[in-house]
Amino acid sequence: MLKKVLLIFFIFIINLFSLANAEEILKISSINFDNSDNIIFLNSVSKVMYINVKSMKLTNPDRISFDIDNAVLTFPNASWSFKNSVIKQVKLSQFTTNPNVVRMVITYNKNFNVNKLKLYRIDNNLVFVYDKKLFPQNNLRSIYNDEKSVVNYYEYTQITEDEKQAVLSQSSNQVKSPEAIEVQKAFNSKGQLVRQQPKIDTAGKKSEILKSNFHVNRIDIKRGNALIRGIGSISVESPFIVKEPTRYVFDMPNTYVSPEIRNKEYVLSEKETIKIGQFEPTKARVVVTSEDAEKFRPIYSYDSQSIFLAHDDRILGMKLFDKTSAIYTYLAKKIDDTKDVLQFVFTEPVVHSVKKFDDKVEINLYNSSGFNHEAYKKGLNSEVLSKLRTEQLKPSGIKVIIPIKSTTQLNYQESFDNKQLRLTIFTPKEEEIKQSKPTPAVITRNPNVRTIVIDAGHGGTDVGATREGYYEKDITLDIAERLEKILKKKGFNVLMTRDKDIYVSLQDRVQYTEDNKGDLFVSIHVNSSVTPEGNGLETHYYTPQSYDFAQIVHKEFVSAIDSKDRGLFKSKFYVINHTTCPSILVETGFISNPEERKELLTSSRKQKTAEAIAKGILKYLGKD
Ligand SMILES: [Zn+2]
Repeated sequence: MLKKVLLIFFIFIINLFSLANAEEILKISSINFDNSDNIIFLNSVSKVMYINVKSMKLTNPDRISFDIDNAVLTFPNASWSFKNSVIKQVKLSQFTTNPNVVRMVITYNKNFNVNKLKLYRIDNNLVFVYDKKLFPQNNLRSIYNDEKSVVNYYEYTQITEDEKQAVLSQSSNQVKSPEAIEVQKAFNSKGQLVRQQPKIDTAGKKSEILKSNFHVNRIDIKRGNALIRGIGSISVESPFIVKEPTRYVFDMPNTYVSPEIRNKEYVLSEKETIKIGQFEPTKARVVVTSEDAEKFRPIYSYDSQSIFLAHDDRILGMKLFDKTSAIYTYLAKKIDDTKDVLQFVFTEPVVHSVKKFDDKVEINLYNSSGFNHEAYKKGLNSEVLSKLRTEQLKPSGIKVIIPIKSTTQLNYQESFDNKQLRLTIFTPKEEEIKQSKPTPAVITRNPNVRTIVIDAGHGGTDVGATREGYYEKDITLDIAERLEKILKKKGFNVLMTRDKDIYVSLQDRVQYTEDNKGDLFVSIHVNSSVTPEGNGLETHYYTPQSYDFAQIVHKEFVSAIDSKDRGLFKSKFYVINHTTCPSILVETGFISNPEERKELLTSSRKQKTAEAIAKGILKYLGKD
């Protein structure tokens, strides 16, 4: 049946600027949404002079279509449906291949006002914005965060593949632009981009789905380095090192790992491997096992579709980029007493990395030639950034070094066109640092211990690990409350970093412990694994003053609970690394294991866990 075209609503001919060496075709490489479902980004890294978009309003159902001329989709056709939103559905497809036209159709309900829909071009990216007065955040998105991310879920978002459209476009695929075919081929072979979207059935709760997607579908090993590739936009959380064996570990929020590569061990060198797993439904975890863990760093590619996980010594002579990118503008600014911003705008997309050490942060700009920081120092009001210095990188590029404090937190953002970088540095005030760093606890065993801080993991928007609609945050709080009761009865001063379902940052948990002069710190967590088989108990410590405490509690813990003893670990988790008193983190079982989950939800298991930890505390203090 023919769909009736009611009226031609308007035609955009967007021509914001033209570029030399423009490519001929617009390759749309990913689609992203912001945290409401009313902003849609179509990302592209190809350079075109003009982007022509024709739009038509249609009825039955009410919808508006946008035909993007001279464009190809580098991933399969897709459609997204939204409940409880004025936008009911967004469909994206390769409408024709000769000429190349990508069609996006937005189906909406009666409350939708077409006049509130705006289309922007930002470099080679198209941005559809509905009912928003201002453009969000200068088009920057976070790609590195020190703080563990809180996953932003879509409310009632369902993703379904538009099978019909896919078939249609295949049959009309009677060849055409060789470039289009090439590009399509690269991605279509996987084919399941949208079908593989994790759907989380949370029984009666909101359905949860990725906010901003990165679909990892490939890992290639190059000279002892790993290229992690996929579709979408990449984000990385603060990496950490785990011992025995030495591993370099980081999480990628809002990321889905293709089952073909999930948990597969790739060999980097004789004694080194890399693995990527689906750590949580919306989070991937990358683990590199290497004695040289400290030497790895993720390098962001110019198209933000891949991360090159590189060993510092192994990238000499490797080709990381095609074009050199000059720094076009540079901004260093103190925002307030605790916040400083460093921002670069480049002439070309930039290949870069950020790495944080205890005393400095390093930004490597691999395809950039440097800048004159001295010239900016004169008018600079930022104490933090006045210490910035640069070094030549081998074989090319520059290293930007900024001395920081160990308590400093970073947020690193990149623009959609990869020509802008922004580093925000959060430095806690001087007094706060002094307070939070009293002389490291002298005591290993202090019989006069009075204050025990119990830290129920996660909370509020940070639900922790989740399976079948059950949240880690609820189990941890329940156990924490039971432990609180037992210890209070024994006469201890017991403090809780949270006693209800609220979000508390890791920094605040540590600060609270330090402010209240906690004598012992116990963080309670629930583990999860990508496979349902994993189960058991773990105790983690990091500082030397915590070892005895961890060992004693762990022993009580594993003897009381009928589950696997997975061992005692030295792990650099934020809360047990930054607290000065003996501090441990207990993983009380696996929510991802159906049997253990069932157990963990019973009050008897929770009570037994609390009692075992309490017993360990008393033993450690010599009070049993
Ligand atoms: Zn946890």
